[in-house]
Amino acid sequence: MRKVLVTGGTGYIGSHTAIQLANAGFEVVILDNLSNSSKGVVARIEELSKRQVDFIEGDIRDHELLRNIFSQHTFDSVIHFAGLKAVGESEEQPLRYFDNNVSGSIVLFDEMIKAGVYKLIFSSSATVYGDPGYVCYSENTPLAPINVYGRTKLMVEDILRDLKKSQPKWQIALLRYFNPVGAHESGRIGENPFGVPNNLMPFISQVAIGRRSKLMVYGNDYATPDGTGLRDYIHVEDLAAGHVAALKTLGDVNPFITLNLGTGKPYSVLEMISAFERASGIKIPYEIVGRRAGDLSEYYANADLAKEILGWQAKLGIDRMCADTWCWQKSNPEGYGID
Ligand code: NAD
Ligand code: UDP
Repeated sequence: MRKVLVTGGTGYIGSHTAIQLANAGFEVVILDNLSNSSKGVVARIEELSKRQVDFIEGDIRDHELLRNIFSQHTFDSVIHFAGLKAVGESEEQPLRYFDNNVSGSIVLFDEMIKAGVYKLIFSSSATVYGDPGYVCYSENTPLAPINVYGRTKLMVEDILRDLKKSQPKWQIALLRYFNPVGAHESGRIGENPFGVPNNLMPFISQVAIGRRSKLMVYGNDYATPDGTGLRDYIHVEDLAAGHVAALKTLGDVNPFITLNLGTGKPYSVLEMISAFERASGIKIPYEIVGRRAGDLSEYYANADLAKEILGWQAKLGIDRMCADTWCWQKSNPEGYGID
């Protein structure tokens, strides 16, 4: 059976992907330092996939640990989700972000080479594009991130492009996610941010469950139909399916792929609030406040290439995104709790 090392596999996107990988017949080993996730996720991944999943608590920057893991397992590939992802925090703590996301990735790739594992999927982000002056981003949109987080993602992409040049046997997929939302339809796993959520969807759902009193809508004076920001929200289950498809597609015919994973259809903040109200039956109190520094008014994916190369496209719409988020939130009001 093909074995995959999933770094960051107890996190939001990693946990959903681990289930789909197990369901697709891959053997899954998770490495996560639990800096932004809970150990209890592992049991839920096993419960939902009905398969055993190995979990190793540890850090991708730990050379010795990685060497041990690679000597104990024979991996066919690595999916590298582990990373810090809060844009605001990355501006305040740049060294921490470069160390974790960039140095950590270098350690991982170095140990992969030593172990002879050359197949990798890397979690990149639409933040690598920055602000090109138009709103529909293809993979050819110039790479010019406008924050530290985005620069860490671009640096790792650059490293991987250079690695591929130096050692052609690498097979690499750079997947640039747009805005992942939603949860497993069972409500057993979902997004569980520690502290105050930065992102819209978890904030809305914590307002709905009563953990926060109201949502702040960051600006209604953008040049968009209702004045609020537009984003390309993609259901995490669709995103997870994109990883399984990428893993199956990587090979001699497609040895290096760079793809946007989005729906191509953006929604505004007010549309997301309405959709969540429909799905939950709960009114979401909100207040319009000033724009958030660094926010763009609108952007979304041109997702044609992923369809062409992977035969993949997002299937789940805004109603499922909200219904599944709400199902997760209401059955786990405090997230995974204390493990
Ligand atoms: P997440 O925080 O839920 O998951 C990341 C996981 O990595 C966490 O479980 C965390 O504990 C772990 N981790 C962090 N640093 C580590 C380290 N040094 N060693 C071992 N484990 C470590 O985030 P997510 O939303 O699941 O994102 C997964 C990946 O996708 C990240 O690389 C993120 O940058 C990228 N991404 C996320 C989004 C998004 O909006 N969620 C968008 C684009 C890209
Ligand atoms: N947003 C908001 N209130 C919040 C969080 C986000 O109005 O509490 C808006 C934000 O300005 C943007 C959209 O929701 O227009 C998506 O923001 P998010 O942080 O989820 O994603 P990103 O900005 O990283 O694409």
